Amino acid sequence: MYENFSLKPYNTFGIEVSAKYFTEITNTEELKNALNFSDVQTLPILFLGGGSNILLTQDFDGLAIKLDLKGITEENRTENEVLITAKAGENWHNFVMYCLKNNYGGLENLSLIPGNVGTSPMQNIGAYGTEIKDVFVNCKVLNLETLGIENFDLEKCRFAYRDSIFKQEGKGKYVILEVTFKLTKKDHIIKTEYGAIQSELEKMGIQNPTIQDISKAVIHIRQSKLPDPKIIGNAGSFFKNPTIPLVQFEVLKQKFENIQGYPNGNQVKVPAGWLIEQCGWKGKQIGNVASHQLQSLVIVNATGNATGKEIFDFSTMIIDSVKEKFGIELEREVNII
Ligand SMILES: Cc1cc2nc3c(=O)[nH]c(=O)nc-3n(C[C@H](O)[C@H](O)[C@H](O)COP(=O)(O)OP(=O)(O)OC[C@H]3O[C@@H](n4cnc5c(N)ncnc54)[C@H](O)[C@@H]3O)c2cc1C
Repeated sequence: MYENFSLKPYNTFGIEVSAKYFTEITNTEELKNALNFSDVQTLPILFLGGGSNILLTQDFDGLAIKLDLKGITEENRTENEVLITAKAGENWHNFVMYCLKNNYGGLENLSLIPGNVGTSPMQNIGAYGTEIKDVFVNCKVLNLETLGIENFDLEKCRFAYRDSIFKQEGKGKYVILEVTFKLTKKDHIIKTEYGAIQSELEKMGIQNPTIQDISKAVIHIRQSKLPDPKIIGNAGSFFKNPTIPLVQFEVLKQKFENIQGYPNGNQVKVPAGWLIEQCGWKGKQIGNVASHQLQSLVIVNATGNATGKEIFDFSTMIIDSVKEKFGIELEREVNII
């Protein structure tokens, strides 16, 4: 157990804040001991995975627990199906690479997403036409109230766009210990229709892509347009893409003829990046904080010296200006601590 411990290396924004107490756990027993310590001391708890989806706005006056449970196991189900279980502390991208090395399909479009496996169900991570819910079987969690182990299947997780029960009524009630996915062994479903995958494959001279080719294409695209947190602090997309009623979209379309939207029934998903850009934020810097010049949805710690509060205030200014221009309220995707 460490005291007054800097969390700077544990959040991809690179914010300098400290936790009153900090510990790293590698198994459930250690986790229970840490929980017992926080209970006796009556401390709030902050669970840390890769720290790539949090904004730390102040010193944490409690116990930060870095979840470092490791291990991957496999269970063959059918000739074409394998169940893979990874512990919470496994790095997400390394896990995807492990699956691809073994020619297991289903996660290739999610290559290079930062963070850990245990956090992937929190917001049903997604990219390039795939979300984990597409291949998710269940996750094992520790119930923080009863200290009992529970299983959450697909239905119980209530996955939605960048959302799950763990961000709603289950928030703060469970620690995800491991996640099981159902992957294909040979008849892989190749998804190339989303974003620039198809054109990237053409550039690579590939006509009949394998799952490994899809992963390479996704990695190239991501590296070309998303800032690397090791170089400039960020947490990826800061906001969710808002969904608005079709009637509201049609009214906006009359005023802003270039507005983009992806209809789904009588709702339309609007790219938050486009809305933010239209309000003049792309590449704009105020003090230590900026909207990234290639991707306005990403807020960056431009000087490396930003405080969490500065970033939070910057995000509020963006929300206010989008609301004023379009009447659309952006929601933060990043967890504010
Ligand atoms: C450059 C960049 C690109 C990104 N691109 C994408 C993308 O394409 N798609 C996407 O969906 N996301 C993306 N993200 C966001 C982020 O990578 C994901 O949300 C990821 O799943 C966060 O994992 P983490 O382990 O870093 O979470 P952390 O930031 O450590 O934690 C996030 C929240 O979950 C809690 N938590 C952590 N682990 C557990 C656990 N085991 N049990 C219970 N609670 C836990 C934390 O307390 C915190 O509230 C991107 C981020 C960056 C920096």
